[in-house]
Amino acid sequence: MTRALPPRVEATFWLLLTALGYFLLAHLSLHATKGADNIAAIWPPSGYFLALLLLMPARMRIGAFVGMVAASLSANMLGGAPPLTAAAFTLANACEPVVALWVLRRREPAMISFMVPRAVGSFCIAAMAASIVSAAIATLLAGTGVDFFLSWMSTVALGMLIVTPPIIMLSRMIASNAMRNATIAMKVEATAILTGAALLTVASFSQSHFPATFLPCVAVILASYRLGPFGAAAGMLIVAVIAALLTGQGLGPIAAIDGPQKVKIFFLQFYLVTMLSIALPLAALIVVRKRLAKRLEESNRWLLQAEAVALVGHWRVDLVRRTIQWSDQSYRIHGLEPGAGMTVEGSLACYLEDDRVRVRHVLKQSIASGAPFEFQGRIQRADGDVRHAKSHGSIEMDRNGVAVGIFGTIQDVTETVENARILEAARSAAERVANTDMLTGLPNRRQTLAFLEKAFAAARDDGAPLAVAIFDIDHFKRINDSHGHAVGDNVIRRVAQRAKAPLRETDLVGRFGGEEFVCILRGDSALSPEMVAERVRKTIEAEDGVAGNLPRVTVSIGLAVYAAEASVEELLHRADKALYVAKSDGRNRLRMAA
Ligand code: GH3
Ligand code: MG
Ligand code: MG
Repeated sequence: MTRALPPRVEATFWLLLTALGYFLLAHLSLHATKGADNIAAIWPPSGYFLALLLLMPARMRIGAFVGMVAASLSANMLGGAPPLTAAAFTLANACEPVVALWVLRRREPAMISFMVPRAVGSFCIAAMAASIVSAAIATLLAGTGVDFFLSWMSTVALGMLIVTPPIIMLSRMIASNAMRNATIAMKVEATAILTGAALLTVASFSQSHFPATFLPCVAVILASYRLGPFGAAAGMLIVAVIAALLTGQGLGPIAAIDGPQKVKIFFLQFYLVTMLSIALPLAALIVVRKRLAKRLEESNRWLLQAEAVALVGHWRVDLVRRTIQWSDQSYRIHGLEPGAGMTVEGSLACYLEDDRVRVRHVLKQSIASGAPFEFQGRIQRADGDVRHAKSHGSIEMDRNGVAVGIFGTIQDVTETVENARILEAARSAAERVANTDMLTGLPNRRQTLAFLEKAFAAARDDGAPLAVAIFDIDHFKRINDSHGHAVGDNVIRRVAQRAKAPLRETDLVGRFGGEEFVCILRGDSALSPEMVAERVRKTIEAEDGVAGNLPRVTVSIGLAVYAAEASVEELLHRADKALYVAKSDGRNRLRMAA
């Protein structure tokens, strides 16, 4: 509002506001509440001046000081003080805001806020420091001793503590449009509470039959609780002004105390300070609590949103009460309405029976050891749909190391499980293709060699029996030449099928290339390899050529029993040489390696 004014008008505005306000308040206080030392019970001009200095632009402060000095000198002299005394008092009072502003600038570089407990503390320190300095100056220049010092100090401190906060808060509320934004109900409530404070103070301090000084405290605490720091400050101001005015007029329970005037004034000050030191911090703490509650509610909302987006829920089991709490997302994962209610047993019952036993076991173990847990199981949703759910969590211990709770997260991993299953199926299909001969369906050379490597290692390391038989179709070129390649393929396929018949489960026959095959004989087969190999040859020879119109073929076989060879290649080489001998000896026969 004042910012829009020309600088000179603005300076005049602040100077007049300071001078007139200061004069009026000083005059009133001196007349209405003067104590034994010619000092008022409360000195509102100090608080008023400090509030204006805090509110006005810094460049207007010099002018304001001029206004304050003029107002203070006139009020004091009008109140009967000699000019020198008036000047001494004025100097002491003028030093107060200088000290207070210095302390505040060091402790609260930003604008002072009465919504923050720390800042309220800083303001109290500033007011105390200012009043001590002021009292010291006044006592040195015009005082009469310790009593004067204490009386001046508490008068000034109270003036600042009681008057500055409501003025600053009120002007900020006006500037921030908070008044206009307040609902009618809020305005009615504020007016009712503050009027109540005034009435209760009048009722307590206009009579001395009952020492009802506690009644205004009730009103101030109610104002602090319902209206916050402004309520506390405004309530205090109302109580202080009325209590001081009535006590100054000789009315009320404090004025009725049996003793000199300065004891009464001191009691009034003590009464006001006590109430103030409860109301202002209480109001600031309530603001902090409300702010925390709002932030808590906000972060809780974000957590639930994050859970809904990430499809992760959380849950907590209270092991003492045997209860369970689920987050909204936990309910959704189970196909239930959020907040439907759940028991510990009910939550376990959601798992399919096999998984339930395992989940129970994992949790029991974790409770016993205190270690974090992780499990995955199938849950049956309310609509019967079975989903895979994964949980992580940890155990909460009390100070004695006793498990009191379980906290866990739960995530629907059905899609991940499904994808992993498809991936695994694709991977094993690819592996099958990579290891299988496409023509015969037998293990290919790669797979056959891998199998042989393992059998070879078992023979070498554990003495497991092992023999290798290589067989090759006799005069196969002729088959191709006279019947065509396709028939040749069918013959190869047929030979592969027949070769499997005499073998045991532990044996393996693979296509090594072309029309050449390898039998790996282990266990019992390897103990009588000649017999098994001979049976392979005979089975193929006995092949019913008419069935499927396939020509009849024979094979030659070279057999090598493991004889501590250094490598698979050496073993195969021996078998191969024996095959060569079988071919040269006339084919359709078995030859043992040397
Ligand atoms: P031997 O008795 O000395 O073994 O005479 P062979 O005619 O069988 O001679 P060899 O084993 O050297 O001949 C292999 C032939 O097998 C050569 C090739 O044309 C044929 N062959 C190799 N792979 C296939 C196949 O997958 N399908 C067909 N139809 N023929 C194949
Ligand atoms: Mg051949
Ligand atoms: Mg061959």
